Amino acid sequence: MEYRKLGNTGLEVSRLSFGASSLGGVFRPVVEEIAIQAVHTALDGGINFIDVSPYYGLTKAETLLGKALKGIRRERYILATKVGRITATDFDFSANRVIASVDESLKRLGVDYVDLIQCHDIEFGSLDQIVNETLPALQRLCQTGQARFIGITGLPICVFHKVLDQTQVDTILSYCHYTLQDTTLAGHLPYLETKGVGIINASPLGMGLLTDRPPPNWHPAAPAIRAACARAAVQCRKKGQSLSQLAIQFSATHPGIATTLVGTADPKEIEQDLCWMDQPLDLELLAEVQALLAPVRDQTWLSGRIENN
Ligand code: NAD
Repeated sequence: MEYRKLGNTGLEVSRLSFGASSLGGVFRPVVEEIAIQAVHTALDGGINFIDVSPYYGLTKAETLLGKALKGIRRERYILATKVGRITATDFDFSANRVIASVDESLKRLGVDYVDLIQCHDIEFGSLDQIVNETLPALQRLCQTGQARFIGITGLPICVFHKVLDQTQVDTILSYCHYTLQDTTLAGHLPYLETKGVGIINASPLGMGLLTDRPPPNWHPAAPAIRAACARAAVQCRKKGQSLSQLAIQFSATHPGIATTLVGTADPKEIEQDLCWMDQPLDLELLAEVQALLAPVRDQTWLSGRIENN
């Protein structure tokens, strides 16, 4: 496994990392012992960065991750969680709530500190509040030792500019914007580099769009995007290949991205994902798939407040 610097944090994160939303059962029901095995397989395979949130499975993912991490030396993993997103529609970025939220997360995770605390999906909140109230509150948690670094996450990339033009954070987490179907993030890397932030790229499989299975019902992609991805999966199968393999290899290759977070609660899938890191990208298949996805290239969906898109 290759390890890369996460911005100016001094942390060295694995090029492929583990996203724990699957542990909350967001894609399909989870069997606890198997999900725990998935976390152990990830760590044994060299992954050292794990991302979670109280929102995933409405605290279920953090609780399950806490069980999986029990007995594992704390120095073996770099742990990130989030604040502010409570349910699909409820958000609270107030200082009091986010400070209490971190306390609750630490208890569920069974740790004394997290390495990274992130404001979750800031496009749903007031960016003024994020800049003037939430981030300063998280900064105070870094002084008390409950967290080491602070970050922001969201779908519309413009929110990162709006925040970073006003204040500093250590990391940004962008999702579904550096995949086979959407590479918008690449155009923003020069700006993000000037801000010195560590770049976390999540959802290389487009939250299930770029696999052999249909995406979950809640997936926000338009029918045209789903259909083009399904055609790409058929093309890969025709060649005896897997769209997931191509997708993960593609997303985890950009040198300007510190780490790419993939999610699964299945040890066999994370084992495959790890194995794909050591195999070369099939450039001929990549060109064929990119041609099939060209009509929906960089198409995305609205997320959060209109003014934040
Ligand atoms: P993803 O693109 O990683 O796709 C997950 C889906 O891919 C799951 O259904 C999983 O079973 C499947 N999968 C994984 N490996 C596979 C394989 N080898 N073969 C077939 N299918 C495979 O999407 P994600 O889980 O949403 O994103 C990864 C992580 O990134 C999340 O768990 C979360 O930690 C983070 N994330 C954060 C935000 C945010 O902060 N707003 C948003 C999205 C994702």
